[in-house]
Parts: sequence; C-alpha cells; structure tokens
Amino acid sequence: MNEVDILIVGAGAAGLMAACSIAGSGRAEGLSVRLLERQEKAGRKILASGNGRCNLGNSGPLEGHYRGLDPDFILPVFRIVDESKYREIFLELGVALLEDEAGRLYPRTLRSDTVHSALLNALAAGNVRVDYGLEVYDIKFRPGSGQDRFLVSFRSSTKDQLSGKRIIEDQVKARSVIIAAGGKSQPQLSGHDSGYTLAERLGHSCTELFPALVPIELADAGKWRRSSGQRVRAAAYYHSHRGKSSAPAEGEFLFTDYGVSGIAAMELAEAVERDPDSAKGDLVFDLVPDMSVEELTGFIMMQLDLHPSYDWERLLIGLLAQDILRVLLRELRAGEIRRTAGGCRSLARAMKKFSRPVKATRGFKFAQLTAGGINTDELYPETLESKICPGLYLTGELLDVNGDTGGYNLRWAFSSAYVAGINALAALK
Ligand SMILES: Cc1cc2nc3c(=O)[nH]c(=O)nc-3n(C[C@H](O)[C@H](O)[C@H](O)COP(=O)(O)OP(=O)(O)OC[C@H]3O[C@@H](n4cnc5c(N)ncnc54)[C@H](O)[C@@H]3O)c2cc1C
Repeated sequence: MNEVDILIVGAGAAGLMAACSIAGSGRAEGLSVRLLERQEKAGRKILASGNGRCNLGNSGPLEGHYRGLDPDFILPVFRIVDESKYREIFLELGVALLEDEAGRLYPRTLRSDTVHSALLNALAAGNVRVDYGLEVYDIKFRPGSGQDRFLVSFRSSTKDQLSGKRIIEDQVKARSVIIAAGGKSQPQLSGHDSGYTLAERLGHSCTELFPALVPIELADAGKWRRSSGQRVRAAAYYHSHRGKSSAPAEGEFLFTDYGVSGIAAMELAEAVERDPDSAKGDLVFDLVPDMSVEELTGFIMMQLDLHPSYDWERLLIGLLAQDILRVLLRELRAGEIRRTAGGCRSLARAMKKFSRPVKATRGFKFAQLTAGGINTDELYPETLESKICPGLYLTGELLDVNGDTGGYNLRWAFSSAYVAGINALAALK
C-alpha cells in the first residue's frame, strides 16, 4: 500500500496553495506530499474567478467582510497572512499583484491562468505528486502519530463506460491529511459536497449549507423580459414578509429574463436564503440612490417646467434605461400621476422605494459560493488543525466562512491553506 507524509484532498485554490506552502522552495525535503483531485484538471474555479481575471484579494480591512457562526475565526489566519505576507507569498510564486481603484487585488497580468500556472509550476518544482480523476471517498483516523494515522480511500471519479466499474480503487496511508475539497456550488465547475461528508465521518459537524453570491429570480420576471441585459446603478435591500430588512447593497444591477444579477444583486442573495419563509419577500430598490427625494422631486419638476408637453417617459429619460423606465412607469400607473409638485414628489418617492417580489435565488448551480460549512469551533484557529483528529487540517470554502465579493473568498482559501500547510509541515518535522 502507498504511504505518504501529507495527503491533500482537492487541487483547487486551497489545495494547490497548501501544497505550495509545504513543498515550495525545497521546504519539504525528505517528505512526500500527494494531492488527489477528482476532476481531470486543477483549479477550475481559480480559472473562472473574477471573470477570468482572478480577483484574489482586497487591500481594505478584512474584518467585517466574512460571515459564519464565528465571524472572528478568520482573524488569527489574517494576522499570520497579512497583506504584505500575502503579496510575498504570490511574489515567491512569481506573481506580482496589482490593485484597482476599489482596492481589489489581481495578478499583474489580469489573467487567472497566471495564478493557476504559477501554482502548478511550484508544485512540479517541489516534487508534489498530483493525481487527477481520483476522488477521495473515505478517510479513517487512528490515533497515534505514525505513517498509518490516516487511511485514505480513493477511486476513479468516473465509471468505465463499458464495464460500469471504477478503473482505480485504492488506499493510501498518511501521517497528515489536509481536506481542501471546497464547496458544493457550481458542480459544472468542480463544486461537490464530498468534503463535508469526509469531515463529518471524521467527527466534525456541518452548519446549514446554502447558495450565496448568486443571482435572484423575481416573481414578476415576465414583466421585465424586454429589459433583459439592461443595467442600473441602484441600491436595494431585501425585505421579508416578517418585516426584516437586510443591509443594503449598492452597485450595478443587471436585469435579466429571470430577475436580477450583477454583484449587488448577488450580495443580497444571502438574505433571501436566510429568510426562513418559503414565500419570499421583496427586493426594495432605490433606483436613483445619488439623489434624495427632494433633489429628485426638484429634478422632475424642472424637467416638467422645461418640457410641459412631454409625457413621463420623455421627462425621465435621463434617469434610467428606457426599457426599465417603461416597466417602472407601467407599474406605477404613471398615467394617473398628476403633473403637479405633489405628483412629482410621489413619483420621486416611488422611484426611491420600488419593491419587486422575489421568487428564489438561482441556487447552487449558479452560486459563486457555498455559505455555511464545517463548524469552525472544531478547529484551532491559529493552525486550522482539527481538535477532533490531530494531524487533520481543514481549509478554504469547506469551512463555515463566507466572504463578500471583491476577492475575499480567494483571500480566505489561499491564506487558510497556507496556514494549514505550514502547520502540517511543522508538525511532521
Ligand atoms: C464563477 C466563480 C467566480 C468566482 N470569482 C471569485 C473572485 O473573483 N474572487 C474570489 O475571492 N472568489 C471568487 N470565487 C469563489 C472562489 O473561487 C472559491 O471560494 C475558492 O475557489 C474556494 O477554494 P477551495 O480550494 O476551498 O475550493 P475549490 O476551488 O472549489 O477547490 C476544491 C477542489 O477539490 C476537489 N474535490 C472536491 N471533493 C473532492 C474529493 N472527494 N476528492 C478529490 N478532490 C475533490 C474539487 O474538484 C476542486 O478542484 C468565484 C467562484 C466562482 C464559482
């Protein structure tokens, strides 16, 4: 039977970084490191991230951008991997970072394949064995510190078309295991739930999982069909039938034939998912967030003075994309609004508080993130070692740590994996 010192499950952002932190720059001399990946390719979500540009961090404060049962769990990891350490880790891999005007960090090339290739180059140089198309389906833990502390069972992730059997079915003994199997969102891009099952079988518990950073379906999407593809800079919040309002999200909302997408809409999805009622509430839009009700009323009155013969659509054309404006005016029964100061005010109020009924989010298939995960109380926050199985480390999206858009999730995946990797290595040396 095969034996290794460190076995890593999953070659996504966290698994690749964990392997690099162990084997980079000859650090793991004399130790064997093996990575098992169920896909035929590593890091598929890295490649897709940031629209192919890989927004892998953010230079602003990290605190306050993560949720989970214990939002402070992230702090020790980010004390170890602060921004300068993070940049240094990537420089060591050959990747210089650049920052955009919003503080988002990207590889200098603005290409995610740069990060992907740099990680794989480092693994090849560090003699890490990476096997593709193999999924880990069971891990047994035996207390002790020897080579047989963990017994890891794996098999081909697909069945042979002719025989219907798995071509490979095998086991490997390991002194230490890092589970970096990610979340279950976007199965078409490697999302899978086996990491949760593996950790649970080893005694860990998992909080409720739900899709996050995902577009939202509106119950009246049919009315917006003609506006599909139109963008609005707006603010919005989710308001449940129980009267609970989420924090607002501001930015670009993209109207589609099913509802709304775009970063701001995706940020509101978590509130929709967390609403315990199956009948969902409303998205409440402020369609002109840069003007107060008074300013907007003044603007509409001025247009009315300048163009007394215009209908509402022509008067408001400078405020919103035309197709969206048409639906809005139809919904507000603009024909009945009086062309007076009072009418202008009620129109302004309606534009700043425009409610649309939510049907659901688009679910795991379209989510950029799985919220919830393995309970972080069961790990030491400075090392990410399991309190239940010594020698087991858990990292990345698998944990109950979910970050905002803007690079916070890759920042967590890479940083937590780095910490898990160096600690797994230190424990064996
Ligand atoms: C379209 C898209 C765009 C995104 N853009 C950004 C962005 O710009 N910035 C940002 O911060 N975040 C972004 N994210 C989120 C980010 O990509 C993830 O949070 C991050 O990849 C998580 O890293 P991970 O290593 O924990 O999981 P993953 O990257 O999902 O890697 C897990 C790996 O484990 C493998 N695996 C699973 N189970 C097993 C098993 N049993 N055996 C063997 N292998 C297994 C999987 O095949 C996968 O390769 C995006 C996500 C998506 C889907």
